[in-house]
Amino acid sequence: MSNAIYQQQVDEFMAKIAAKNPGELEFHQAVREVAESLIPYIEENPRYKEAKILERIAEPERVILFRVPWLDDKGNVQINRGFRIEMNSAIGPYKGGLRFHPTVNLGILKFLAFEQVFKNSLTTLPMGGGKGGSDFDPKGKSDNEVMRFTQSFMTELFRHIGPNTDVPAGDIGVGGREIGFLFGQYKRLRNEFTGVLTGKGIEWGGSLIRPEATGYGCTYFAEEMLKTRGDSLKGKTVAISGSGNVAQYACEKVTQMGGKVVTLSDSAGYIYDPNGIDAEKLAYVMHLKNVKRGRISEYAAKYGVEYVEGKRPWGVKCDVAMPNATQNEVSEEDAKTLVANGCFVVSEGANMPSTPEAIEVYQANRILYGPGKAANAGGVATSGLEMSQNSLRLNWTREEVDARLHQIMKDIHTTCVKYGRREDGTIDYVKGANIGGFVKVADAMMAQGLV
Ligand code: NDP
Repeated sequence: MSNAIYQQQVDEFMAKIAAKNPGELEFHQAVREVAESLIPYIEENPRYKEAKILERIAEPERVILFRVPWLDDKGNVQINRGFRIEMNSAIGPYKGGLRFHPTVNLGILKFLAFEQVFKNSLTTLPMGGGKGGSDFDPKGKSDNEVMRFTQSFMTELFRHIGPNTDVPAGDIGVGGREIGFLFGQYKRLRNEFTGVLTGKGIEWGGSLIRPEATGYGCTYFAEEMLKTRGDSLKGKTVAISGSGNVAQYACEKVTQMGGKVVTLSDSAGYIYDPNGIDAEKLAYVMHLKNVKRGRISEYAAKYGVEYVEGKRPWGVKCDVAMPNATQNEVSEEDAKTLVANGCFVVSEGANMPSTPEAIEVYQANRILYGPGKAANAGGVATSGLEMSQNSLRLNWTREEVDARLHQIMKDIHTTCVKYGRREDGTIDYVKGANIGGFVKVADAMMAQGLV
């Protein structure tokens, strides 16, 4: 069948998705990218077409939306909105993070939950897909305010989740502090100490390497991509966006593997440190962001380097780019600039950070492009390992978890190569990840009947 006919099928499918999910632009974007990979594959495997698997997989199994009232430090009543999208449970309990950010809405969480289904499948671990969160903004809130909000949030969420039902984790705005408050409230309401959340503290059921996992995994994935060209991260200049959990540990691992990280950012701007952000400077960033909760501009003041306000770091010359902040943070123009400056590897720690137009630029230039659902799967994979340890009531060593994480990233890479090799021998990791993630979920859905 010709590409034009496939494209027409994608457009028809997307017209139905858009009509059914009005205004949910990020969700449309994520579904379109997957449909473009899958429709040709489904044509070759008509059993999926007859069972309408693509239509079913794009419809959440359940959406929970709730009011979250709480009192701020001045005694004023505040009201936020809470969500949990239970997208797909064909291969395991729903699994995916909670995001607290003022931009959170139904469309963003549905895109994230949809991506999560494929990502979790790629890890080879038994996890379905979900996502949730709130439009609550933790920035500028006291610890007590964050605690009151998260307790109220969990007071509704607890009835929908459980270690065999739905196991949330962190995401933007939800780190160790928030997971602690959420876990405490769940335990109180259920009177159960179970592995209902991942990203827990090490003293109370957490896994070693879970905080590091997404950034480390994204770096391992970049290394695997480089290996296909007989290359490695050693000596490479790396531009990273974000300065949160994923960015911090990507910076650490790139440096350990011999690369030089020259940028970090937050929503206000980026810093450019041509000498590289070494372990000592990174320790400063971690304290600044995780304890002091300050701005990345303070790094520039401390180390006397350039700070560029209101911009993203994609104009900086680099070999490798790691967008580790948020969705749609690399535009077509940014992608063109990256390629023109010699960047030939993009490994996404964030979810859907590149716009469809940016991805076209990467693909047309045949650069090594690892999409988030493959490259950042190390986080949820290690959450899966945390769930296993909780079930076994055992703790694995740091080395053991890291070795498993590393192997999972290599296996995901192998899956992408298997399903994504182009006729010219290069690898389309988007296609590889989409088809590789789809097959297991689709087969499980078929086996379980019309549910
Ligand atoms: P954090 O909250 O720890 O850090 C987020 C970082 O991105 C901060 O530096 C933040 O800056 C910046 N940022 C957030 N929103 C925007 C925005 N709209 N524009 C510019 N910068 C922004 O989150 P994580 O590091 O956990 O998550 C980063 C990305 O990685 C997200 O896309 C997330 O979905 C994805 N991810 C995370 C996983 C995990 O294990 N944590 C797993 C897989 C994917 P500021 O402080 O100014 O807001």
